[in-house]
Amino acid sequence: MPLEAPMRGCERWRFAAGAAVVLALVIAGIVCGLRQQRPARRAQVSETRAALNTFVAVTVVAENASRAGEHIAAAFARLAQLEGTLSAHRPDSELSRLNSGAAGGCVSVSDDLYRAVEAGVNWHRRTLGAFNITVAPLLELWKNCGRQQRLPTQDELDKARASLGVDRIQMDSGKRHVRWFTEGMRIDLGGLGKGYCADELVKLLRARGVRDALISIAGDIYALGRREDGAPWRVGIQDPRRPDSPESLIGTLELSDMAVSTSGNYQRFVEIRGKRYSHIVDPRTGMTADAVPSVTVIGPDALTTDVLGTALSVLGVEEGLRLVAKMPGVEAMFVTFDERNEPRIFRSPGFARFEAVGGSHRR
Ligand code: AMP
Ligand code: MG
Repeated sequence: MPLEAPMRGCERWRFAAGAAVVLALVIAGIVCGLRQQRPARRAQVSETRAALNTFVAVTVVAENASRAGEHIAAAFARLAQLEGTLSAHRPDSELSRLNSGAAGGCVSVSDDLYRAVEAGVNWHRRTLGAFNITVAPLLELWKNCGRQQRLPTQDELDKARASLGVDRIQMDSGKRHVRWFTEGMRIDLGGLGKGYCADELVKLLRARGVRDALISIAGDIYALGRREDGAPWRVGIQDPRRPDSPESLIGTLELSDMAVSTSGNYQRFVEIRGKRYSHIVDPRTGMTADAVPSVTVIGPDALTTDVLGTALSVLGVEEGLRLVAKMPGVEAMFVTFDERNEPRIFRSPGFARFEAVGGSHRR
């Protein structure tokens, strides 16, 4: 029996402390497809919980429902631990402690926090500066401007940009120490944290012997193996024009042992005088990244696709596709709209391989 994978458009997960601009995501899950002959029927069980300021769905295929339930409970327990580590909106999280202490001296951090920060630092370089885990001052500026219903001045943008600085983060891998020398600088893992968590849950499930599972953390998803009926997992890409209607899809993907993330500006944004400004900011200019309503990235792991979803929103179609061409195993699809509000879709050359064939959504 096909089972719905309850992926929801994203509510708010503020890894970014105080970001009024809100996550955009996207992906609605649907499940159907051809049944394949398997030796014995297994149980496919799904559970959705509120976590990380959004909805997280874990679906596991196991020998029976009770075993699947145990795997799911273990996954959510690990997620709770990760939330306590990586969340920027929780004052008691490890990240919050790092943010309040790292300007004063070395802070010893857990393996999870170290690896997440290290990934953020490395991806800054790989995305030509588009991905920047120190964007908090810009996010705050836009949030304040939203409250005051005005645009930021150039002076304010310059000042906020001057306090960004991935290159000011010092890390000691042996001691697991992190520090920086700029008072007021903060790290925001909102652009990669959900992907990091999805990968960690997959790692845990694999270690427990699970071969088939689907982890959906808002728009960041990892499809492990296949569904109970042997078909690949199917993931729908929501139409950005209908953020409140998860069943309105602009495409459907079939994935197995791959991750997918969608970033967009249609569900999380700040509204200033009737115009919406994205929750993703371009660290090179300070402006919000509004050119791409939605970008979907497919790749080998959810950290990569989460980071690239955010980064490609900043880089835009041309620069974004050039970057994707250099990354093996990564594909992307950008959705923009023309003046008649008709979709204009740009795909990297290999993206279509993952789209459901004969699907009515393919454009
Ligand atoms: P996502 O929904 O994965 O695209 O992540 C968006 C979140 O990442 C925002 O809510 C911010 O917390 C953070 N963010 C915004 N702009 C950037 C950026 N240029 N680089 C890294 N993180 C960002
Ligand atoms: Mg992201």
